Formats: sequence, structure tokens, C-alpha cells
Amino acid sequence: MESVIVAIDGPSGTGKSSTSKAVAAELGLSYLDTGAQYRAITWWMISNGIDVSDAAAIATASGKPFIESGTDPAAPTITVDGVDAAGPIRTQEVTSKVSAVSAVPEVRARITELQRSIAAAAEKGIVVEGRDIGTTVLPDADLKIFLTASPEARAARRSGELKGKEASDLATTREALIKRDHADSNRKTSPLAKADDAVEVDTTDLTLAQVIECVVTLVEEKRTGGK
Ligand code: C5P
Repeated sequence: MESVIVAIDGPSGTGKSSTSKAVAAELGLSYLDTGAQYRAITWWMISNGIDVSDAAAIATASGKPFIESGTDPAAPTITVDGVDAAGPIRTQEVTSKVSAVSAVPEVRARITELQRSIAAAAEKGIVVEGRDIGTTVLPDADLKIFLTASPEARAARRSGELKGKEASDLATTREALIKRDHADSNRKTSPLAKADDAVEVDTTDLTLAQVIECVVTLVEEKRTGGK
């Protein structure tokens, strides 16, 4: 079977991660969560006392952390300087600061290079999820998907994912999501955007299983289409 590169972009709460992981697992492909990489570098900045509103300081430090991503869709991993970062990158603090860090061009250049090398090394192919994969990171991807959903559906899904102490109410989650999407969509360097040749899938009224089936079918069509 030929190697295939699938780019899945879209705002938060559209089911990107669950869909990407499941599609990769079903098709025997690797999986890369690029949001986790931006979260990891943000966590490192916070842990090292760097003010995330100081873009120059972020730029200067951007080459320091060593970020590694494990690409098995059944058990994806993320480490920073060899330390497991899977838990710490999901805190509210990281979530609220990641857009500022990911907007810094030096950060994007470094992480983009890392993403391209991971995709190039995936022998059987890879599903890469993010915000700028189809537009900037892998513009030659075999298939580009852009997932959308109404703000209400996205907030409801995200609230369901948050547990325990950090559970926010729906309205707060919705506000935070909208703020982050606005920042991600309006930054100067490779903003969240749909590539011209991406297939848009509105997941508002679809179950996760339906979205997965839709994407798997699109990948299989590409493969049998003989690209
Ligand atoms: O997907 P997730 O919500 O974990 O992404 C966290 C943040 O990482 C996004 O809000 C965005 O600021 C940044 N990001 C990005 N480009 C990507 C993936 C994520 O700027 N390709």
C-alpha cells in the first residue's frame, strides 16, 4: 500500500484529535498531534519563568526545549527534554497561554520543521492534525480535511472533556474557545485557515463514528484513485 499523508485542520472542539487518532489507527498510519507540540513549548516557557506576552523573549528561547512526539495512534506521547509532558500540557494555564506562544514566528518555524521531519519519517503515512497543516506545514498532503462545528457544539464537547477541579461551565468554555480561535485565526504567521483544496466537514450534527467513517472513506478514495 502506498504511503499517504492526511492533514486534518480546524478549530478546537471539532473532534480533530479523536477523529485523527481513530482514522490513523484504522488505516495503520502514524499520528501527530501538533497542538500538543505547541502546548509543550508553552509549558516549557511557563516552567522557565518566561513571560508569554514578551514575544522577543519567547523567540530567543524557542530553540532551547527538546520536544519529542511519539506517533503511535494507540498511545501518542509528548516529552520535553525527556520528561513526560502529557499531563501538564492540558492545564488551563497552558491552554490560556498557548495562542500567544504559538503566534511567535520563531516558535512556528522550529515546530514546523519538526513536524515536517516527523511526517517524512512515517513510512506507511501519517495523519497530522492542527491548524495550519494543509496550508503551511504539508501543502502537498494527499488529502486535506477541514473540520468545523457550531460554537455551541464545540463548547459542549470541550466541557465534556474537562474533569474535576478544572471543569468550567459551558459559557466560560465557550468564551475561552472563541477567544483562542480568534487569536489563532488572526495571527500574522500561518493562521488557522482552510486550504483551498481541503474538504470541509461540518461535524455539528454528526457522531464521532460518522466523522471517522467519512474521513476513512475519503482516504480510501484517494488511495484507490491512484495518486
Ligand atoms: O489542538 P490544540 O487545542 O491542542 O492546540 C493548542 C494550540 O496550539 C492552538 O490553540 C494554537 O494556538 C496552537 N496550534 C497552532 N498550530 C497548529 C496546532 C496548534 O498554532 N498546527
